[in-house]
Amino acid sequence: MPELPEVQTVISTLEKQMGHPQIRGVRVIYPRILANKSPEDFSAALEGQRIEAYGRRGKFLLFTLSDYLLIAHLRMEGKFYYFHEHVEPYKHTHLVIELDNGELHYNDVRKFGRFYLYEKNEAAACLDKLGPEPFSDELTAGFLKKHCRNLQVPIKSQLLDQSMIAGIGNIYANEICFACHLDPLRPAGFLSAEKWEEVISQTRRILGEAIEAGGTTIRSYTSSLGVTGLFQQNLYVQSRQGEKCRECGCEIAKTRVNGRGTYYCPECQKSQPIVIALTGSIGSGKSEASAYLQSKGYPMISCDAVNSQLLEERETLENLAEILNCPVERLDRNYIASRIFADALLRKQVESYLHGRILERIRKWISDNESEPLLFVEVPLLFEADWDRYFDYSLLIYADEEVLYSRLRKNRGMSDEQIAQRLASQMSVAEKRQRCDQAIANDTTLSQLRKSLDAFVKRLPVNKER
Ligand SMILES: [Zn+2]
Repeated sequence: MPELPEVQTVISTLEKQMGHPQIRGVRVIYPRILANKSPEDFSAALEGQRIEAYGRRGKFLLFTLSDYLLIAHLRMEGKFYYFHEHVEPYKHTHLVIELDNGELHYNDVRKFGRFYLYEKNEAAACLDKLGPEPFSDELTAGFLKKHCRNLQVPIKSQLLDQSMIAGIGNIYANEICFACHLDPLRPAGFLSAEKWEEVISQTRRILGEAIEAGGTTIRSYTSSLGVTGLFQQNLYVQSRQGEKCRECGCEIAKTRVNGRGTYYCPECQKSQPIVIALTGSIGSGKSEASAYLQSKGYPMISCDAVNSQLLEERETLENLAEILNCPVERLDRNYIASRIFADALLRKQVESYLHGRILERIRKWISDNESEPLLFVEVPLLFEADWDRYFDYSLLIYADEEVLYSRLRKNRGMSDEQIAQRLASQMSVAEKRQRCDQAIANDTTLSQLRKSLDAFVKRLPVNKER
């Protein structure tokens, strides 16, 4: 089935071949290919129109006429043929557009292709539900993350969803998953923004190269210039089951995901743990949540603990001494705090150094635990530091302000003024709830919190077999 690069090749080819002719007449041989017009209305509208411009949206071909927008979708096997002179229709020709410089035939063995006709100022309903184009600025990791929030659909299937990204079909979805070393069955709602960024850049690279190569030809597809198979040798997994992976030498496997043939390398694309960031403001009960999940056997690491550990290591202290321009012996928590709170720029430098080291340690810990299905990382300032982009999923523990105050007064002996100050230095709960993937209210008892956590874990898409 033609995908974005093939459709782009077809439309560019037609433009090159036909230029901007006037339509003299139309023969509709198989009326059902017309999606929204009768053959009479279609023919009457097109007669006398000039093809002014050619375009593409997702897998749709767009012909801008003098007064109309003509849209075609090739579906499985639709093909256009342009002839300079009159040619009798073939057996599978369903539409002939007679031009002042030749004839355009539409041929379709399976008869799945469709034509849509709209007046120029009318909204084209068939394009309504399409998501952003792969090369559009609208396509961002944030958009994709939001689009897929909590979706358990496999990423491979989700890439075919035209309302998410327009133009990707089965072949390129397989190639994109491979290029990103993504398990095709990975649930789409459990992917970090960082990984989505990789998906976007690989999608652009792969489709861009395919457009350049003139579209892939697999099975019967040919563009009207007869461009064939130029890109086939660049496919890493598609239709290569049993062959050796070009990256690791492992055998490429084939399976079905939602009924579609899915090719992948079992080694390069093995299943990775879902890494969940656990966050919450002071007094929210985040630590209790963390302790409970750990007691249930889920591997957990805490940013604060990593930070403390780093501050005990000679290498960290030497680097910090250099940044603060002081002898290593002077460094202790109080000294560091007094220096950075007096100097915003210095604070930024120290924080950026420590954040980098912490992230490095966490990544190492994640890769050491890559055979686990589920990992938790406790990150107190997850959203404030924009660290949510590194994690597949974010879980927020929150409590009512009133509850927070009474807890902090009671458990930590803090004054109302101290509490207000601490809370003001953090992002508001409302904003955090907007940004997180899942929020658990912890306003009542510990056992209620545990129940909510149990229910949360139960809903996670883990331990699913291929
Ligand atoms: Zn491989």
